[in-house]
Amino acid sequence: MRYLIIGNSAAGISAADIIRTNDTKGSVTIISDEEFDAYGRPLISYYLSGKVEPENMRYRSVDFYKSRNIEVLLNTEAKKIDTEKKEVLVNGDKKLGYDKLLIATGSSPFIPQIKNLDFNKQKNVFTFLTYRESIRLKEKITKKSRVVVAGAGLIGLKAAEGLSKQVESITVIDLADRVMASVLDKPAADIIQNHIEQNDINFELQTSISEVRGEKDVSKVVLSNGRVLECDILIVAVGVRPNTDLAKTAGIKTSKGIVVNEYMQTSEKDIYAAGDCVESLDLLLNESRVLALWPNASNQGEIAGLNMIGAKTKAPAAFAMNAISFFGMQLISAGIINALGSSNIVTDSAKDKLRRLNILNDNLIGFILINHNQRAGIYTALINDRTKLSTLEYDITLKDIGLSVYPKEERTKKIWNHKGCDL
Ligand SMILES: Cc1cc2nc3c(=O)[nH]c(=O)nc-3n(C[C@H](O)[C@H](O)[C@H](O)COP(=O)(O)OP(=O)(O)OC[C@H]3O[C@@H](n4cnc5c(N)ncnc54)[C@H](O)[C@@H]3O)c2cc1C
Repeated sequence: MRYLIIGNSAAGISAADIIRTNDTKGSVTIISDEEFDAYGRPLISYYLSGKVEPENMRYRSVDFYKSRNIEVLLNTEAKKIDTEKKEVLVNGDKKLGYDKLLIATGSSPFIPQIKNLDFNKQKNVFTFLTYRESIRLKEKITKKSRVVVAGAGLIGLKAAEGLSKQVESITVIDLADRVMASVLDKPAADIIQNHIEQNDINFELQTSISEVRGEKDVSKVVLSNGRVLECDILIVAVGVRPNTDLAKTAGIKTSKGIVVNEYMQTSEKDIYAAGDCVESLDLLLNESRVLALWPNASNQGEIAGLNMIGAKTKAPAAFAMNAISFFGMQLISAGIINALGSSNIVTDSAKDKLRRLNILNDNLIGFILINHNQRAGIYTALINDRTKLSTLEYDITLKDIGLSVYPKEERTKKIWNHKGCDL
């Protein structure tokens, strides 16, 4: 059996690992257009800040590929999939045959239309998705750099945090009225923003970059609110788009992402897809969407791998969950934060602390915890299990949650069946 995997990151590595665990005879090959062994993508901002050394960027041990007998082809781009011949064309016109193929190509930065912006020409414009880009940025910055970050989402804020204290100024721009608008409501976003501002990062919200100016490189950015900012480094981090082209041109069904069934199988029988490049069922919205998150990619990769070796394993429906920190402030946001008809209950709130629960029809459907994450596992389990809140021992809006919230019988089951979440 020849297993071929395009993409050497969370989804691709999980798939390769589980395939090799269960099939010691078949060949497992991973293709990557990057030059590095698999690394922790979320760590690139810590590399930028100097908190993580290059040797600690690795996602797996140095001998991972060799010890697992997995062939990895770095600097190798998959250009075309021939589903008839079961071959993948890679750079240098080489063809790699497969019996089972996994597409785990992740996503690419979305570049908005900005007058005069030209990534090919201007050498001081960056995106922030790869280790290479983080290295390039680290080499380019100086103490005098005035940095403008377009996008106050997770990636933009992480880039800003990574650069903090290393440059003259950082200004983050976003069209929304708040930071991380897709996962935070305004009160929660305000706490995060205030905390980030205390670390000398400025915000220009409800505006966007309409134009960049400069002789060769970008030296000024013009905002739609009329303000003009001096700029030595511009980072564009306004969002990502799933890498679906390879699948699409092979005739595989795509929509927002690559379309897969619950076995992570695409519309083409022997081709699977996993991670940021696919759309999958959101447990809470009951519709397909792209959940661009590391644990989701890793879980999907594992399920895809299991199905590639012939096990019939279904991927559980997931929901959005972000667990991150900014300058030491811990944030967990999960599920749906605002939904029509739901009650959004703030149970504890202070300058640097928040516990906000979103309840609909007796179910917890989302929560935001800021500096309050000890019991996130229980809230997550309540969402995941669709637990009716009225069946619990006490009203979760009235006091901080503990395992004692479950009726005795349920509690005993949870303790014995503990899945590793922080109960
Ligand atoms: C700065 C930053 C911080 C983040 N923080 C968090 C966090 O705190 N929590 C969280 O859950 N998620 C976080 N994420 C998101 C997380 O990194 C992604 O969800 C995860 O990496 C997705 O894994 P993947 O395997 O699907 O794809 P990717 O990690 O994107 O990997 C896909 C790989 O495929 C390669 N590839 C693409 N096309 C081809 C081709 N044609 N041929 C060969 N190779 C190809 C790509 O170059 C890439 O190496 C963060 C991301 C960034 C950038």
